Amino acid sequence: MNTAEIIVITAILTTAICMIAVFAWEHFRRRTRDDHVMNVINQVRHERFESQAILAALDLGIVAYGSDDHLLTANEMARTMLNNIPETFPQFCQDYGEENGMRASILLGNDNVSGVYVSGDRSYRITIQSQKLGGIASRRYGHIVMVQDITAQEKEERRRKEFVANVSHELKTPLTTIKSWSESLLDWGVDEKDTAGIKADIQRIYDDSLRMEQLVSDLLLLSSIDSHGVHVDIQPINLDQVARSITERLLPQAKERKQELSFTRLGKLPLIYGDRVALERILSNLITNAIKYTPEGGKISIYANSLIDEVYVKVVDNGEGIKSEYHEEIFSRFFRLDTTGSRMYGGTGLGLSIVRELTHLHRGRIELKSEAGEGCEFMVLIPSMMKVRRDVLIDLVERNVIDDACGRAAENDIRSFLAIKDDRKWPPPLTMNEAELILKKMS
Ligand code: ADP
Repeated sequence: MNTAEIIVITAILTTAICMIAVFAWEHFRRRTRDDHVMNVINQVRHERFESQAILAALDLGIVAYGSDDHLLTANEMARTMLNNIPETFPQFCQDYGEENGMRASILLGNDNVSGVYVSGDRSYRITIQSQKLGGIASRRYGHIVMVQDITAQEKEERRRKEFVANVSHELKTPLTTIKSWSESLLDWGVDEKDTAGIKADIQRIYDDSLRMEQLVSDLLLLSSIDSHGVHVDIQPINLDQVARSITERLLPQAKERKQELSFTRLGKLPLIYGDRVALERILSNLITNAIKYTPEGGKISIYANSLIDEVYVKVVDNGEGIKSEYHEEIFSRFFRLDTTGSRMYGGTGLGLSIVRELTHLHRGRIELKSEAGEGCEFMVLIPSMMKVRRDVLIDLVERNVIDDACGRAAENDIRSFLAIKDDRKWPPPLTMNEAELILKKMS
């Protein structure tokens, strides 16, 4: 091989090696760029999934319209609440902002508007905000719509207003009579009326002040129950003994109305966890109502017995009865079927709502069976001590917090039974079998 040939072969080989190197370099660079692009795409996809998951988890409806007014996205909650989400923002304003003035406000150039949209029995607060899309430097504006279900808040607000109006009305009625009777006495009564007349006026003033006192004390009791501030002293109690003593205490009242009032214990009653004063209040309210709303000469029977793991007291009368359509409302605050009758007997319209709240404090319930003209049967059912202990043990196994007075009384009994004094060892880790065993040994 001569020198020229060697040079040519060397040149060819060098060129080939250079080309391979360039090709390999190019291949490497492309792969790195592709990997980078893939990473960016994956990151964007991941962020998108994340933001969609966040949107889906919100209990707030979110709808977004782009700067071209077309729908960008809407989360599941918005679709459930609004059932139809228009494709364009002007259409959205037309559908959901016409009656509440939001559309007009947007047309006037407001950036942040809100209004209430009512659909069937639900109310929604819709808030629309103009938002810059495409970064801080962007000049393009889209719209973010937030939809919030405010049905429960509105209902609460309505109830609060009704309650305040009722309280004011109830307080005003006796106050007005107190004022007018005392005015008449001051103006001319003392000089012109005889002693009997003056005494009658003072008696009326006194009766109305008693009514006001009763109303205020009922309101205070309800408010302390509402704020969980009511003081209860939970003890093991024999409910039939409470029912018997209240019946005996109210015998003179029934006798005055020539009514027959009797108490019968139908079986053996297990003990319950209860606050004696609260239980007396429940039963005296029910029996007093039976006396008030049963005509003279009527019959009122009180029965006490037990069911599987509950004890009950039934108050049965043969009075005017209550139509089934009022069976739920009757327990609402200030609800009365017959306002004049109730006021005549000094009723406040709060008795049955107090009865229900106090029954719930004992983990119990109240049932009513009645029809107009067929008398009433009110039945208060309270769980036995054993049932409360079983439920509390299940809660302890499941590590649930026990936050009611009866539950805490049962918890204390279980703790004393297990002789656990150290707070750090309470609640103990229990299995269901161990809980059953404890319950059996405690019975
Ligand atoms: P009140 O102070 O008016 O008695 P309650 O809350 O105790 O308030 O009772 C609410 C209403 O339920 C009463 O006004 C009355 O119309 C009706 N009611 C309660 N108990 C009886 C009953 N045993 N028989 C007929 N109606 C009753």
